[in-house]
Amino acid sequence: MSKSYDPRMHSAEHILNQTMVRMFNKGRSFSAHIEKKKSKCDYHFDRNLTSEEIEKIQSVVNEVISQDLSVKEEFLSRKFAEEIFNLERLPEDAGDKIRIIKIGGYDSCPCSGVHVSSTKEIGEFKIISTDFDNSVLRVRFKLVEN
Ligand SMILES: [Zn+2]
Repeated sequence: MSKSYDPRMHSAEHILNQTMVRMFNKGRSFSAHIEKKKSKCDYHFDRNLTSEEIEKIQSVVNEVISQDLSVKEEFLSRKFAEEIFNLERLPEDAGDKIRIIKIGGYDSCPCSGVHVSSTKEIGEFKIISTDFDNSVLRVRFKLVEN
């Protein structure tokens, strides 16, 4: 695990991705840089977000965090997992037992990273900025310590 790896930021990424899927149905981020101070997620998209949408995403993510949902792991066989999830972003050597991270009933996603044990540990989620270029929406965000 690199020094800048932050389980809080990374867990927030899961919640942000599920929120983007629910609001826009364009999938989870295809590329992300997650660091302690600030992070960014890139999405295949068709335009930039409006300020109302940014507010809405923030309030949904913070609502999920404030519910203090438990973060749990579960293992599925690859055959079963690939029927439900997109496994493209998992490393090739992930093996035949695929680890699924569940954030309460809000999100499930295959992942080999390190997460918080419940969402309140994440703190407050804040979008710093968004921009849109060449069919890619980039969302930059940070966490405010509680
Ligand atoms: Zn993860």
